Amino acid sequence: MTGDEDCVFCKIVSGEIPGDVVLSTDEVVAFRDLQPVAPTHVLVVPRAHAPDAAATAADDPALLGALVSAGAEVARQEGVSDYRLVLNTGAEAGQSVFHTHLHVLGGRAFSWPPG
Ligand code: AMP
Repeated sequence: MTGDEDCVFCKIVSGEIPGDVVLSTDEVVAFRDLQPVAPTHVLVVPRAHAPDAAATAADDPALLGALVSAGAEVARQEGVSDYRLVLNTGAEAGQSVFHTHLHVLGGRAFSWPPG
């Protein structure tokens, strides 16, 4: 899948709605979360629409590697050496936008287990 006309992250990828973009490659776009929960809170999304990380892995396993590499590059740009990467998968796990996205969280300490 390459796009979904009703998907907010597809609209940010295409430029139809604005995003605070911090990194853009042929495969992924990274932009700041509208409601940050940490000093660094960036979402890395594949340009190709898929509903969640498992679907992206099924469509194109290498794209998940590109997401993580981009997350590491975002953390480097932000100057955070320690960071958390999150892939909420399914509503009960906290997923609210059904376009694969990797949360890159940093700039504060995190506890475990998550809430
Ligand atoms: P999740 O709950 O894992 O699906 O994460 C979705 C994230 O997308 C949330 O943290 C929202 O704050 C964020 N979000 C939703 N709409 C936008 C938007 N237009 N621009 C940036 N972040 C958004």
